[in-house]
Amino acid sequence: MSTERIVVIGGGLAAATAVAELRNNGFAGSITLLTAEQHLPYERPPLSKAVLLGDKEPESAIVHDRAWYDEHQVDVRLGARVESINRDAHQVLTGAESFTYDRLLIATGARVRTFALADDSGAPVSYLRTIDDAVELRSHFRPGLRLGVVGGGWIGLEVASAARNSGAEVTVIEMADLPLLGVLGPEVAAVFADLHREHGVTLLTGAEISAITADGEEVRVTLADGEHTFDRLMVGVGVQPDTDLAQAAGLEIDNGIRTDDHLRTSDPLIFAAGDVANADHPVLGRPLRVEHWDTAIQHGKVAAANLAGGDVAASALPYFFTDQYDFGMEYVGNTANGYDRVILRGDVAGRNFTAWWLQGSEVVAGMHANDWDAIDDVRRIVGSTVDPDRLADEKVALSDV
Ligand code: FAD
Repeated sequence: MSTERIVVIGGGLAAATAVAELRNNGFAGSITLLTAEQHLPYERPPLSKAVLLGDKEPESAIVHDRAWYDEHQVDVRLGARVESINRDAHQVLTGAESFTYDRLLIATGARVRTFALADDSGAPVSYLRTIDDAVELRSHFRPGLRLGVVGGGWIGLEVASAARNSGAEVTVIEMADLPLLGVLGPEVAAVFADLHREHGVTLLTGAEISAITADGEEVRVTLADGEHTFDRLMVGVGVQPDTDLAQAAGLEIDNGIRTDDHLRTSDPLIFAAGDVANADHPVLGRPLRVEHWDTAIQHGKVAAANLAGGDVAASALPYFFTDQYDFGMEYVGNTANGYDRVILRGDVAGRNFTAWWLQGSEVVAGMHANDWDAIDDVRRIVGSTVDPDRLADEKVALSDV
């Protein structure tokens, strides 16, 4: 048995993947996982989909059950919020205990951005990040509930979809001219706007909130066109990386915990993974921090390899998916460096198509909408250089592009 000690801070998918991968790879030292939550580590995508729809129990999101941790000799501590890292002593401290590490993984994820309310005591306002948030939000769903959703991003739209399914009257309030405009651009963002309008959602776009007031029973949102009254407001205005611990420990921070492409922080004994890590990306040639389910998995695997002394770079391109009503999509790539052309193939009005974002002849991102067989082509084509006219020509099969 090795005497190496690895400590993992976090109770999300990056942490759960890392500990599993350490054991899968034969790491024989001690592993301790410390999570602030009272649940075993879990994944979050079902919280705004199957759990909110009532199709699955919240516990279905848990990655490994307690027996798995026992069997794999992973000491998992719930309700164990790490309060500080002593890098000189190689120790992390919770309120009650200290844990010594030879290598440390920080996978503290992200926390929701909150919205200042004029009166927030007992206000009917919800956020969605944790299992407990999902259970709480779902408990309010009922036919006729007037639900306001602040933010037309992925979480806001998935909540709108689940709430409509339970018969709520849903209004989405979005600052931009279309939901998801920043991520998808006008061509594809319009598809999501149509989807939600067709399902009876009121979309208020270009909407700037000047005040939110609540009286316990109702919540009122003031926009330029007047006051909108709801029984409940769900706020989905993004997250911020949970860097407090790392910052207090003196690690380099810049839009998350900065790491090299091996997920190593400015302290060579400490790694960071998942939503919290802003990691050099060897393919994109710049640091990248994404808040995606797949990145938590990929980072968890890479971190596990390197925590155990390996030499692996995190080079996967970002991958994202969503499910809303009967519409599903998968997206690969990243357009943060810009794009100059969008190519749509297939039946856009019927929401069965592929979309491609190009910079010159390089395909920087691609997605399919309800065309599940296309994902292999999307993965193959994104990141490569193509003849844009052939990609745009629907007579040329994707497999021949
Ligand atoms: P997290 O899941 O945030 O986990 C971090 C954990 O660390 C938390 O349990 C936290 O309590 C714990 N922690 C923080 N500080 C401390 C501390 N000091 N001590 C101990 N523990 C601490 N992505 C997609 O690609 N597709 C989707 O459809 C999708 N849907 C989503 C739906 C919802 C509702 C949410 C919230 C996210 C969704 N995501 C989706 C994003 C995806 O879930 C995240 O990218 C992923 O959860 C990141 O995993 P993580 O392990 O890095 O962090």
